[in-house]
Amino acid sequence: MNAEILCVGTELLLGDIVNTNAQYIARRLADIGIEVYYQSVVGDNERRLHQAFELALKRSDIVITTGGLGPTKDDLTKETAAKIAGKEMVLDQESLKWIESYFKKLGREMTENNKKQAYFPQDAIIFHNDNGTAPGCAIEIDDNKKIILLPGPPREMKPMFENNVIPYLSKLQEGVLVSKVLRICGIGESKTEELLKDIIITQSNPTIAPYAKTGEVTIRITAKASNKEEANNLIKPVERKIRTILGNNIYGEGENTSLESVVGKLLITSNKTISVAESCTGGLLAGRIINYPGISAVFKEGMVTYSNEAKIKRLGVKEDILKKYGAVSKETAEEMAIGIAKISNSDIGVSTTGIAGPSGGTKEKPVGLVYAGLYINGKVYSKKFNFRGDRQTIRERTVISVLDWIRRELLTN
Ligand code: ATP
Ligand code: MG
Repeated sequence: MNAEILCVGTELLLGDIVNTNAQYIARRLADIGIEVYYQSVVGDNERRLHQAFELALKRSDIVITTGGLGPTKDDLTKETAAKIAGKEMVLDQESLKWIESYFKKLGREMTENNKKQAYFPQDAIIFHNDNGTAPGCAIEIDDNKKIILLPGPPREMKPMFENNVIPYLSKLQEGVLVSKVLRICGIGESKTEELLKDIIITQSNPTIAPYAKTGEVTIRITAKASNKEEANNLIKPVERKIRTILGNNIYGEGENTSLESVVGKLLITSNKTISVAESCTGGLLAGRIINYPGISAVFKEGMVTYSNEAKIKRLGVKEDILKKYGAVSKETAEEMAIGIAKISNSDIGVSTTGIAGPSGGTKEKPVGLVYAGLYINGKVYSKKFNFRGDRQTIRERTVISVLDWIRRELLTN
């Protein structure tokens, strides 16, 4: 079986962006034993895209495209692929609901042209997009010719490739493909790759593929064998090596685990109660902790102390400290953590205070500056973070970093 990668986008032709999608897909296809004989790039032009599809389908079994799945008029990959395959475009209700809920989650108005993203060539196999609005799909023209359409943004394309395309392609191949997912927090994607460089390069079966999500990295170890047991036996020693290298940076395994469930379990087994006092995260941290069912055994209370007045009145932060160092400071974070632990009579007190933006930043205290406090075993600690991103991203990254910090403290103490 062979595949051709066809990347769509005028930006790529002009050299405005680097074609990292082609590189990623080519590498992953090689990992699973699918040969790539051709790669091409075409602009957002229907006629030329049509020609590119025709040529690709003539010489390759599978054509994988990225880009041009967006809501605007110049996004025409799906429509062109449908024409080539001789399929009608039909509305997929489930995708429509999904896109609507995605907009609701973001608190954004869904425009009429977003509906376009819920139309697919008849009988297409649809791939949900967990990181954006454009679903992808596979179009089966006949037994030997298939088109796979993926979104352009790498942060949407990569998870879709791993979660949907690899399983889809592996069904077309002989043997079984088994993968194991390790979840990493506290180190970034490039650091993870660097640490694992030697095994990633020397390993061909299983393969090791790291990719980033907000605030965490996922490593997928994928083995190909004639049966499941054999594949698992190939994975085991490699997993062991990775675990030795990454140690505590690995917080869990599997798609369905979460940082809060790991922290929740650690709190329960160490029998430590916890309370949180939040400023910039405004309840997000408490919300994440409470996601874990069973947390009521250890979680006592969460306070959103947003104003200086609240920090003084509810947590007993000293007015002097706020005046001298400001609300976004190591000193305030520490006082908040001690305050909430004492007031709630908890073993652990956690605090967040920062500048989530978009305004309110200064040269000394820029947007994204966050302090967190942790009171544990009778001592108080603080951490300073500088996050990038919009208001929501900064708040989410704060929550993830704080949860990871609690996790590491519980593991070592
Ligand atoms: P959107 O819904 O965001 O419009 P799309 O599927 O229509 O997604 P494009 O509009 O083609 O995709 O590309 C969106 C962005 O994704 C580009 O601006 C670029 O940043 C990135 N991107 C697209 N193609 C590639 C590629 N081949 N390699 C790396 N990045 C890419
Ligand atoms: Mg687009």
